[in-house]
Amino acid sequence: MKPKCFIFDMDGTLFDTEYDWVRIKEELNTQGKPILSYLKSLKEPEKSLKWGILEKHEKKATRNAVLKKGIMEYLNFLRERAILQALVTNNSMENVEFLLSKFNLKFDFVISRERGLWKPSGAPFWEVMKKLKVKRQECCVIGDSHFDILAANEAGIKCIFILNEEKERFSSSNAEVFNSVEALRRRTIDLLQARV
Ligand SMILES: [Mg+2]
Repeated sequence: MKPKCFIFDMDGTLFDTEYDWVRIKEELNTQGKPILSYLKSLKEPEKSLKWGILEKHEKKATRNAVLKKGIMEYLNFLRERAILQALVTNNSMENVEFLLSKFNLKFDFVISRERGLWKPSGAPFWEVMKKLKVKRQECCVIGDSHFDILAANEAGIKCIFILNEEKERFSSSNAEVFNSVEALRRRTIDLLQARV
């Protein structure tokens, strides 16, 4: 089936951002749980305190974020081919709006964490499919981490493209991994031609 909708992750996918997630998880003492689920499970006052720590790291990384090389051209390339573009991030809407406005990017639909649907759950992707009226076979997920792969798998999306220079980290996954946006673009041309 012809791809109609590309669902993008934000941090690490559209933007190069300086998150040290290992350190942040240590600082929050998440005990191996995903950060957002862990924070949700806490009681006050610890909850507000730790949300504040996460938001401080996010703000700093957002301020220093730069557009990944080739991403603007890639988004335009998809737009020219009438491919819908969704953005699904576990980051906050405030940071999404800051970055989209700073780099003048537009998406057909955006889901941030305020919606309560977080990766690695497939729920935010189901929401995209419902909103944009596309089937899972018509979607591709573009991310940079295992959370993106887990969420895509749960949502039943088979087209999973990962932008990451450490290819070996994903060797046991069902995703296709690219070390540059240019390599991703070449693969996308093949995909769109093959399915026409
Ligand atoms: Mg990411």
